[in-house]
Amino acid sequence: MANLANAQNTISILKKYDFHFQKKFGQNFLIDSHVLNKIVYAAEITKEDFVLEIGPGIGTLTQYLCERARQVIAVEIDKNLIPILKETLSPYHNVMILQEDILKVDIQKIVENYNEGRPIKIVANLPYYITTRIIMGLLESHAEVISMTVMVQKEVASRMQAAPGTKDYGALSLAVQYYALPYLAANVPANCFLPRPKVGSAVIRLIRYQQSPVNVKNEALMFRLIHASFQQRRKTLVNGLFHAEELSFDKKEIEDALNFCQLPLSIRGEALTLEQFARLADAFSK
Ligand code: SAM
Repeated sequence: MANLANAQNTISILKKYDFHFQKKFGQNFLIDSHVLNKIVYAAEITKEDFVLEIGPGIGTLTQYLCERARQVIAVEIDKNLIPILKETLSPYHNVMILQEDILKVDIQKIVENYNEGRPIKIVANLPYYITTRIIMGLLESHAEVISMTVMVQKEVASRMQAAPGTKDYGALSLAVQYYALPYLAANVPANCFLPRPKVGSAVIRLIRYQQSPVNVKNEALMFRLIHASFQQRRKTLVNGLFHAEELSFDKKEIEDALNFCQLPLSIRGEALTLEQFARLADAFSK
């Protein structure tokens, strides 16, 4: 089977099956072998690993994964890609293709049914229209996942890694950093894909914490506070929390909680670290 990681072989297989790209599925296929090597290297795949790939496309990254992992399961929504995948992955006996919407798949069930409950690795060149939903869904589901090594839009990668006080810092940074340690593995230009996306891309690896670096009594309340603070970014934290629909604290309760945490009443949410949001949630839980 020819290596798909170049424009010529990709175009040739697409033509053979008369495949047309579907914009609504975020289809931008990788055609650069250096990038593919970087992804599998960053993902630290070994022969012990069970890998879940989200959106295999025509199977370009899947081939690299099959070469290195013990077992691969690839979840693809587009039924028109299934016959192509059957051909391109035919040399491999360690891969299973599921035609499903990843947002409707119970990942923990995959872990239990196919890997005896042992943690898995996730690798993907993600469809950008649902990147954050996929990642947050995976992190919040508490499925047994060791790491996610994923291609995302460059700005999304920056937001995931952002530190307090920077322009990219927001609810996504805090949510990702509560569950996982992010690191940037590579920046990827648009010409590494077919068709070229209009945005820059980056490979980011999220290594899931066994235990979050931050302890909080009421996780759901902390995330409501975070969400409320960044909904109204320009407001002070006091005003942001007071006007939030998802919270029902009065001004006095909010000011007392901030005083308890030794935070100035003029502070904005974007200045708070994850640890400070956790302490604030604990102060409200009292
Ligand atoms: N992995 C291939 C590659 O790197 O060349 C394709 C990556 S492409 C950016 C995203 C893939 O995700 C497409 O094949 C698309 O059809 C698939 N996809 C889009 N939405 C999906 C969903 N909800 N569930 C599963 N796959 C999806």
